[in-house]
Amino acid sequence: MAIFLHYGDLPETVHFTGSVAVDTETMGLNLNRDRLCLVQLSAGDGDAHLVKIAPGDAAPNLVALMADPAVVKIFHFARFDVAMLKKNLGVDVAPVYCTKIASKLCRTNTDRHGLKDLCRDLLGVELSKEQQTSDWGAPEPSAEQQQYAANDVLHLHALKAKLDALLAREGRAELAAACHRFLATRAALDLAGWDEVDIFAH
Ligand code: MN
Repeated sequence: MAIFLHYGDLPETVHFTGSVAVDTETMGLNLNRDRLCLVQLSAGDGDAHLVKIAPGDAAPNLVALMADPAVVKIFHFARFDVAMLKKNLGVDVAPVYCTKIASKLCRTNTDRHGLKDLCRDLLGVELSKEQQTSDWGAPEPSAEQQQYAANDVLHLHALKAKLDALLAREGRAELAAACHRFLATRAALDLAGWDEVDIFAH
């Protein structure tokens, strides 16, 4: 496996077909306060591409990939990443698959749906979350940060395969697909100020 670090955009020579695992690292969890710092990508082949984003970067190749209707973007907790990418790069990410939503719909035997939980329960892989709150705004990500950032995308394809089988078994594949189609709207509501409000509640 290899980690490739790029600055400002994905090089034109890097292509993804069918699906790509995506994650982001940011200055924090507030969509309107905290900027996007890093976008991680993997084809599910053990390699990871990290794109360092500085303020003002437009990242046109990355944006084109995020909007490519022929490439499914696989996230864990897509709601946050989709809103972050919309806010910082102006892109409507689609189509989207979220391993957290899929897990909540088919693994009703547990309330543990974190990425660490899914990797342990479904793949037998122990994931470290040590660098999660490190400073992602630094111009040069450390070796430890790069490894951590890569790990967050390396297992999403394998998780999707396991979760798709469980969704099919439980008859919830269509419900999951409908939730995934709604994610862009959920992210838009977050950015528009309805982040703490469930508009479906009474
Ligand atoms: Mn991450």
